[in-house]
This record gives sequence, structure tokens and C-alpha cells, in this order.
Amino acid sequence: MTQRLIVIGGDAAGMAAASQARRRRGPDDLEIVTFERGHFTSYSACGIPYWISGVVPERDQLVARDPATFREKFHVDVRLRHEVTAIDLGRREVVARDLDRGGEVRERFDILMYATGAAPVQPDWALADVGGVFGVQTLDDGAALRDWLDADPQPRRAVVVGGGYIGVEMAEALIRRGLTVTLVEQAEQPMSTVDPDMAELATDAMRGLGVQVRTGLRVTGLAERDGRVSAVHTTEGPIPADLVVLGLGVRPNVELAEAAGLPIGPSGALRVDRRMRVPGVDGVWAAGDCVESLHRVSGMPVNIPLGTYANKQGRVAGINIGGGYATFPGVIGTAVTKVCDLEVGRTGLRERDAVAAGFEFVSVIAESTNRAGYFPGSRPMTVKLIAEKPSGRLLGAQIVGWSEAAKRIDALAVALWNKMTVDDMTALDLGYAPPFAPVWDPILIAARKAVDALAASGR
Ligand SMILES: Cc1cc2nc3c(=O)[nH]c(=O)nc-3n(C[C@H](O)[C@H](O)[C@H](O)COP(=O)(O)OP(=O)(O)OC[C@H]3O[C@@H](n4cnc5c(N)ncnc54)[C@H](O)[C@@H]3O)c2cc1C
Repeated sequence: MTQRLIVIGGDAAGMAAASQARRRRGPDDLEIVTFERGHFTSYSACGIPYWISGVVPERDQLVARDPATFREKFHVDVRLRHEVTAIDLGRREVVARDLDRGGEVRERFDILMYATGAAPVQPDWALADVGGVFGVQTLDDGAALRDWLDADPQPRRAVVVGGGYIGVEMAEALIRRGLTVTLVEQAEQPMSTVDPDMAELATDAMRGLGVQVRTGLRVTGLAERDGRVSAVHTTEGPIPADLVVLGLGVRPNVELAEAAGLPIGPSGALRVDRRMRVPGVDGVWAAGDCVESLHRVSGMPVNIPLGTYANKQGRVAGINIGGGYATFPGVIGTAVTKVCDLEVGRTGLRERDAVAAGFEFVSVIAESTNRAGYFPGSRPMTVKLIAEKPSGRLLGAQIVGWSEAAKRIDALAVALWNKMTVDDMTALDLGYAPPFAPVWDPILIAARKAVDALAASGR
């Protein structure tokens, strides 16, 4: 008998699951219906800042597979602009609202794939009905922001609220569009995904780009004129603005799941097992920003919303739904970003994570260059390593540097994934030629420094 899979959420995790399930089970065996409340499927939210800046010229370049492709090639019944409002596990039904035409539908499922992503953090002041205030969570959000940038009167002064990597990427995008940009961050430093000493380098780069970085102050409200934002109020007075971008972070979008009685873990995200199955309920799967994962270094459940995980987890869920066998082995939090040409990479634990997980450790910072010092284009590169005491096991790494810095984090991620010690790392056979690295690669220099620090600490 034909089974019915309902997918809630038509982006990375949901559509990766749908396509993998379809590859293994034909339409006569498995009917697939996707509910997506937006206008797009399988889009790259990660690309939004680059579309806003104009580096990526066309919106549709961010769409990997459109609904027509899913319908025709994958036989997936994609229902756009349909928001699922309830899950009835007893009747095995979902309730969805048609956002354009109104009205509700109830649809039966045998298998449910929950892939609702993350919801942006929105303080009360951001909920006011004022024109010119935008999130950048979905492609629809990005499109609304682009329209505002192109409309008459054109905004000239932007305030980006929140200095996470999305806020930083948006600040750069708006500078590139010719706006005056102020980035407001409540903490003492933006870029909290790296330790403050490394974040300082990124902050300097932002200031160098012309972004006014205001730290240690909080936005308390908005001022408006004729329905359009005219300033943000902060704990240190108003900042004029014709455009406000919210980058205050996200939380797992688990409201529907919670209301249906699905298990929420300590990170606030949905619990899943290694096969991306929601434990305790038959035939319910989940993946992406809404679920929690095992952190392979701390051993703790974490919710780290990254596209790289959403795609992998969705694929694992889809293979299993399709009758195959696949597992998701956990995460180590590897991420990269850039501020203009300054690149930032990180993997594993920051110092504060290592403290929270109860590790004793040393941390070192090594200054080097991306290429041989004499080679044209040689620029500074800073590598930070955190190593467990006394074992020497690598716990975390961060890199900040100009060109070719960020993707060097991948070598460190592989070392971390395989539980290498910094002692082992000093002898890693990394590639060398003057255009690519100094003869002692920055990673090797940092590893040697960490070994010295461990010895000095008495191990
Ligand atoms: C600006 C920006 C830049 C980013 N850059 C990077 C990066 O460089 N690298 C990286 O790894 N990650 C990046 N990310 C994160 C990455 O985009 C997400 O981790 C990824 O999109 C998560 O995929 P997902 O399918 O879990 O959730 P989402 O992409 O959020 O998709 C969930 C979908 O579900 C829909 N939905 C939610 N609730 C319902 C409902 N009740 N009914 C119907 N539909 C619903 C939403 O409309 C949405 O389309 C970035 C994110 C943003 C916003």
C-alpha cells in the first residue's frame, strides 16, 4: 500500500530528506507532500547577504531546486504558502493554512518529516508595525529588504542590530550598497562565535571597512516618521536609521513539535537519535536548525544552526525514510565567514565552552602569514589553538587572517574530529610552496607553541 510522507519546511533539511526518500522509493510506494509557508524551496539563506550586496546578482541563483523541479522530476507535491499550524499525532494528520487564499486543509500522514528550521529572536520593540525593519532568515525576508533598498526614497542610514556572523555579513553587504552602517552589539564584542581576542581582529576589520561598531549598548525601541523607521533608541541615545536589520540570533523553531508533545532536549531543540528519528513516536523524523546534535568534543547536546548540518541531516533522514540505513555522527561546530577580505574560521570549543564542559586546557595564539613572507600578497594570519591538559588533545581552533585563512580551519577540523593531540599535529605533512604557505605552516607553528605551553604548564 502506498505510504504518505508529509514534510513540514521546504528548504535545506526538508527537501534533502524528500529527494533522498524519493531516490529510494517511487511514487507508487511513497507519496510525498511538502508544506512550505514561503514562496521558495531549497534556497540558500547563506547567500542572502551576497545577493543583498550585489555580489550575487540574481535572486534565482540562490535557489538550488525550484518547486516545479520537485513536482516534475521528484514527484513531490509542493504546497507553497501553506503554513502548518498543528500536528495531530493521534490521528496522524497535520493542519495547514493557505496563506494566500485563506482556509485550512487537514492532511493524513504515515511518515512525518519535521524541518521547520529556526526562528529569529525578535524582541518586543521589533514587532512594532514600522516600515524598514527586516530579518534575513528566509529568501522572502531577503526579497523584502532588497525591495526597500531599491524603493523611493532610498534608505541611506542602516542600523544592524546584533553582531553575530549574520549581522556582520549584512553590515558588509550594506556598506557595499553605499549606505552608512552602524552595528549595535549588546556584548563587549561582536562575533561571539570566536573568543574575544580573535573577535577583536574582526571588529578592527569592520571599522576599517567603515562600519561604525557600537558595543556594550542595547536597542530599546524604534522611532518612526510616517510609518517608516527613523531611528533606533538605545541605552546610549538614538541612532538615526532609515533601515534596520535584525541579526539577534535564532532559536530552534519547535513550537508545533512542542505543542504536539514531541520531545525537546536541554538545548531547546527537538531530540533525535543518530538516524534523525524523533524518539518515542513512530514514523516521525526531524533535521536541520530545529534539532539538537551531539557535540563530539564536549559530549553535550547542542543546537548549532548551520546549513552544512541541515543538508547532511536531511539526507540521513531521507535515506532512512527510503528504507536505507544512515546515521549522523554529531558536530564539532566548524564555521567560516568573512569581513571584507578578512576571513574568520572556527572549529570545536571556544575557551568558555571548554570551561563549561569541565576541561583543563592551555590556549595559544600564533602569528604568522598566509604565504612565504617574501612572496607578493603575503598577509598576517593568526591561529589560536586550545588543547586539553595533560593529554594535549586538540579541543578547539580559530583562525583570523587575510586571504586563504578561513578554509585552513578544515585541516584543524579533521585533526579535531580524529582526536589528534597537538604533539601529533606538529609533524603533520601539510603542503608547502611560497605562494601558498610559509615553510612552517601557521598550523604547525601554532601546534608547536601549544606543545611548549603544555610543557610550561607542567602538563
Ligand atoms: C543570512 C544567513 C546566512 C547564513 N550563512 C550560513 C553559512 O554561511 N554557512 C552555514 O552553514 N549556514 C549559514 N546559515 C544557516 C543556514 O541557512 C541554515 O542552517 C539552514 O538554512 C537550515 O536549514 P533548515 O532546512 O533546517 O531550515 P530553514 O532553511 O530555515 O528552512 C525551514 C523552512 O521551513 C519553513 N517553515 C517553518 N515553519 C513552517 C510551518 N509551520 N509550515 C510551513 N513551512 C514552515 C520556513 O519558511 C523555511 O523555508 C545562514 C543563515 C542565514 C539566515
